[in-house]
Amino acid sequence: MTITDAREHLDDAARDWLDNVHGTGSGPTFEVLDPGTGRILAELSAATESDVNHAVEAARAAFEDGRWSERDADHREEVLLRLAQLVERDFELLVTIEALDTGKPRAEAWYDIKEVIGVLRYYAGWCTKATGTTIPAPRQYFAVTLRGPVGVCAAITPWNYPLPILMYKLAPALAFGNSFIAKPSELAPLSALHFVRLCAEAGVPDDVVTVLTGAGSTGAALAAHPGLDKIAFTGSTRTGRAIAHAAAERPTRVSLELGGKSPNIVFASADLEAAADGVALGIWTNAGQVCVAGSRLLVERSIHDRFVDLLAERTDAMVLGHSLDPEAQIGPMISAAQRTNAENVVASALDDGAVAVTGGRALAGPGFFLEPTMLTGLATDHPVSQEEIFGPVLVVDTFDTEREAVAKGNATAYGLAAGVWTGRAGQGQRMARGLSSGTVWINAYGVFHPTLPFGGTKASGYGRELGESAVEAYTEITTVVEDLSAGEGDDHD
Ligand code: NDP
Repeated sequence: MTITDAREHLDDAARDWLDNVHGTGSGPTFEVLDPGTGRILAELSAATESDVNHAVEAARAAFEDGRWSERDADHREEVLLRLAQLVERDFELLVTIEALDTGKPRAEAWYDIKEVIGVLRYYAGWCTKATGTTIPAPRQYFAVTLRGPVGVCAAITPWNYPLPILMYKLAPALAFGNSFIAKPSELAPLSALHFVRLCAEAGVPDDVVTVLTGAGSTGAALAAHPGLDKIAFTGSTRTGRAIAHAAAERPTRVSLELGGKSPNIVFASADLEAAADGVALGIWTNAGQVCVAGSRLLVERSIHDRFVDLLAERTDAMVLGHSLDPEAQIGPMISAAQRTNAENVVASALDDGAVAVTGGRALAGPGFFLEPTMLTGLATDHPVSQEEIFGPVLVVDTFDTEREAVAKGNATAYGLAAGVWTGRAGQGQRMARGLSSGTVWINAYGVFHPTLPFGGTKASGYGRELGESAVEAYTEITTVVEDLSAGEGDDHD
């Protein structure tokens, strides 16, 4: 199904929504494109440095006067649950906006918005359950920890999973009483703009949640602002480094989730059909534009040819298409620039002797489509085997022993995720101990859940989101120590 203008395929609600969406800044406008057609979806105003200053001051005032930070935890729980209900009410609209804005098939965006609801409900539960502790300090003292909000938190969030990744940060921040400022990616900011309206409707007080739209300088102005208590970033290692530098000046807490070059490791003992399904899912989901994309296939040498054939069958059968095309299984890349970068990477690999078992070309016609591309014949230390491409490009490598699989699994600067496919008891757990990776999936790939801590090691960043880890990330501990000996012996009854 060829779609050249997505608007013609929208219902009235989505069309009206797009016609009436505005940016939140006072600066010049920027265009938000449909990656499936390259056409303009919306024009939004960008936030200037003065808009950033105003947002941080307002968030600080809201935090200090306690309109949210000092509300009872069960009140915050109710509001978060109401937010989850409002996302459910607007579910179809949000799925459409997210699909259009990112280019991913609607069926994928469906899971994303379900995940948003799950994360909101999970952290609603935490509002009343994050507690301090009593400490066995010397008996002379009574020592406890109190757990409170951090203060004004900022998030700079990416375009690949706009609303879920925003929610990993925003839901726990709200649960524990923080104020929050979000700067969504200029490439896919629309769902955040709808969500902030829902916050107001759910009863989040003014200035507790702010979204700043911007392109080009808003993120840097926000990260450099001295009024922040925490910054959470998901995106490239380069920008992560710049944010960490800016934050170090004050200093401000930072958490960074910076992508990866994750290995999917297949042993000959594995159920190869299931492994091929899992490897395909791990790299072709969201056109490979996933921080945990299993972009390096490490396959035991004895099954290399057979496994590559299994994967190629699945890959060749996949349908590329516009996000609103019900047949589509792989969407476009997010932008012309990201596609050009991936095309250049593929060309350099082919120049160096790689073979494209599948794909290798950009599609002619509207949209930023690139065929899913499997490359064999590259050395482990070739730049294309080492650098994050963030597109539908898979590099295939081999190993002979478990030890070599661990060594090659760890042989990049990154450490975000890994998959291990094996039929041997204990092998997956042994591999997990050896892999330097924030998450290891065994006979599975890409499993996310609100309960599961997520984050990276090495160049993939630091800090964990989701699960109980977010309690530490969005609360501050105060240690309170009282000397009990002061009045000892006063009472002589
Ligand atoms: P970036 O990592 O460059 O992030 C862009 C965002 O960061 C924008 O919101 C931008 O705001 C902000 N920003 C840019 N410079 C600064 C700064 N100095 N301080 C604070 N904020 C800043 O992502 P891109 O979209 O350019 O993607 C580039 C690569 O990043 C991809 O190819 C991929 O490798 C990786 N990536 C990883 C993701 C992941 O999930 N880990 C997700 C998305 C991308 P403003 O527009 O105002 O400048």
